[in-house]
Amino acid sequence: MIIGGGAAGLMCALTAGRRGKRVRVIEHANRVGKKILMSGGGRCNFTNTGTSPTNFLSANPHFCKSALARYTPADFIDMVDSHRIAWHEKELGQLFCDVSSKQIVGMLLEECAQAGVRIDVGCKVDAVHRVGGGFRIETGPGEIECPALVVATGGLSIPSMGATGFGYDLARQFGHDVLPVRAGLVPLTLSGKHHERLQDLSGVALPVESRCNGASFRADLLITHRGLSGPAVLQISSYWQPGDDLRLDLLPDSEAFEFLRSQQRERPAAELRTVLGEVLPRRFAQRLCEVWFGNKPMKQWRETELREIADQLKAWPVVASGTEGYRTAEVTLGGVDTTQLSSSTMQSKQVDGLYFIGEVVDVTGHLGGYNFQWAWASGHAAGMAL
Ligand SMILES: Cc1cc2nc3c(=O)[nH]c(=O)nc-3n(C[C@H](O)[C@H](O)[C@H](O)COP(=O)(O)OP(=O)(O)OC[C@H]3O[C@@H](n4cnc5c(N)ncnc54)[C@H](O)[C@@H]3O)c2cc1C
Repeated sequence: MIIGGGAAGLMCALTAGRRGKRVRVIEHANRVGKKILMSGGGRCNFTNTGTSPTNFLSANPHFCKSALARYTPADFIDMVDSHRIAWHEKELGQLFCDVSSKQIVGMLLEECAQAGVRIDVGCKVDAVHRVGGGFRIETGPGEIECPALVVATGGLSIPSMGATGFGYDLARQFGHDVLPVRAGLVPLTLSGKHHERLQDLSGVALPVESRCNGASFRADLLITHRGLSGPAVLQISSYWQPGDDLRLDLLPDSEAFEFLRSQQRERPAAELRTVLGEVLPRRFAQRLCEVWFGNKPMKQWRETELREIADQLKAWPVVASGTEGYRTAEVTLGGVDTTQLSSSTMQSKQVDGLYFIGEVVDVTGHLGGYNFQWAWASGHAAGMAL
């Protein structure tokens, strides 16, 4: 029995089904794979060819290694290719469907059907009991007994898509620790003067390097009407908690002080906002000068002032008030503690026959197809062990 018909649950089901196991998936939403459907802007960033354990956050960074090594991006690409689903690499190893994420759900359903997997949608699990060496599951339509139970209920993000905390409750019921959960890969919100200073620049985007707590990401920043988003912010949000020092390098490709000094020599009459407006979005450069730096011709700045401006451009402090939360988060950080799970099978070390896979486990990927790769790999690991 697999509770949850998402990426991990379906992969586990088809893997076990192919091995001749009798598999049943219980999904409480009206259809399976809703997050796959909405992922990657409808084109599903289904894996990343550069996947490595360093792309994941977990209290135990070693836990994901075994499963990732035994089911690789190339394995998933083989399945995609065998279904003749056209795909392309966008950037940095991120693979997307050319046409639609519906094709990935279709592929998983076809594989499940071929492997004889039974899928019940619109079926809610009310309770799970340990019975002898197996489990009794109470569902709306009736009770089901099974020797092995896989929990693949995902994280808490996007509750409107069927996300619940059921998997965490089940883990606690069977004596597992659940590490604190919070929204990850999520836009940050600004408030007060920080919000007022930027809100009318909503839609402005620029390449930056975001840095927090030892992590850094070079990608785009997007100013939104509520705060900051874009891949650079989504990535760093997984490393940030309120009060942490979060910085943006607004000129990641240049040595800001040298740049300002050379402009001072070459264009002494040009104003700072004009000079900055040539290397940053113009409206953003203007705002920086209005609110933070001031504005005057380059020749009038002292060297120490230019150095201060350069320092701010290279480490612009972001005072975020919070995140947009689970409503828009792509993932949930934290979850079922990995110390009580086998890293090769995902089976509980305390309850025989109980497995946890996918996002419900305390393994969370960076943005870029890594979260699906973890879902496929952990689902495969359990599917091979059932
Ligand atoms: C908007 C968005 C875009 C994303 N884009 C990408 C992307 O492009 N690439 C990428 O790698 N990752 C992406 N992610 C993250 C990725 O979708 C998840 O990490 C992945 O789906 C996790 O797989 P899972 O099977 O563990 O959980 P899910 O796919 O969330 O599946 C869990 C399933 O369990 C069901 N369920 C929950 N509770 C119960 C219950 N009590 N009884 C029965 N069923 C239950 C849910 O309805 C759901 O179908 C995105 C996430 C979001 C929200």
